[in-house]
Amino acid sequence: MDEWELERLQEKLVNVLMKLRNTYGGALSTLHIKRSLPIEVKRLITKFFNLFDESCRAYIAYRHRVLGDLDKVRCKIGCSFCCYQIPYGASYLEYLYLYHGITEVAPGRLFLPALLDRNEVLSLIVYDLGETGNRSSYTEALISYSKRMIPCPFLDKRSALCLLYFFRPLSCRMHVSFAPPRFCDPLNHEPWRCGGVNIEPSDMLKEALNRVDEVFPYSLSRFLTIGVVEFMVNIMGCRPIRWEM
Ligand code: SF4
Ligand code: SF4
Repeated sequence: MDEWELERLQEKLVNVLMKLRNTYGGALSTLHIKRSLPIEVKRLITKFFNLFDESCRAYIAYRHRVLGDLDKVRCKIGCSFCCYQIPYGASYLEYLYLYHGITEVAPGRLFLPALLDRNEVLSLIVYDLGETGNRSSYTEALISYSKRMIPCPFLDKRSALCLLYFFRPLSCRMHVSFAPPRFCDPLNHEPWRCGGVNIEPSDMLKEALNRVDEVFPYSLSRFLTIGVVEFMVNIMGCRPIRWEM
């Protein structure tokens, strides 16, 4: 794996997104009316997320082999300190895929009680920051939220596994740590030891995600739990997406 191959993976990701936008942009833009999409859209979105995972693995291999970085990724099954934070900045495509996963995994309750519970806490934190004149400080709100040690609504507390692993957003896929997991604990008092790294998408990939987002004719919150509830209730009326052959 060299830089050229990493770039090729990013280009492949962009190509999948452009195919989605150029071929299925019309269908995506009327999802809130028809509540259905061609099955090919699901195949392309799944391909996109699988490729993204591949690009993250490739980057880590590149760090080891080419950059000579000997630190090992410490993430492992059942390690979940990073799931006590609310992801921020998801694209609409991520909301769509996450919502599809929710309807597959929990078609009855749709995680709604847990989502609404988290949203109430988060809304109060954001409101309080607004009251002190610090309205734009979303980072502060997210840190304050994480210190309350409230698990992500999709985290199974008993097994510490993500119940929506295959459908999780990009921010969960790209985050790894090169330091012992205890330093990821939001209550860790030595934050400088935290070896958390985000394997950020390239600029062209971020731009492509924005281009796909443009086809959705509405606006959703960038706080993951709030945005997904807006998508679930306002856009989909709590009904599953109908995938048409
Ligand atoms: S980022 Fe930290 S808490 Fe999350 S899986 Fe990796 S080591 Fe564990
Ligand atoms: S979506 Fe899954 S991986 Fe992401 S924070 Fe929630 S439980 Fe963790």
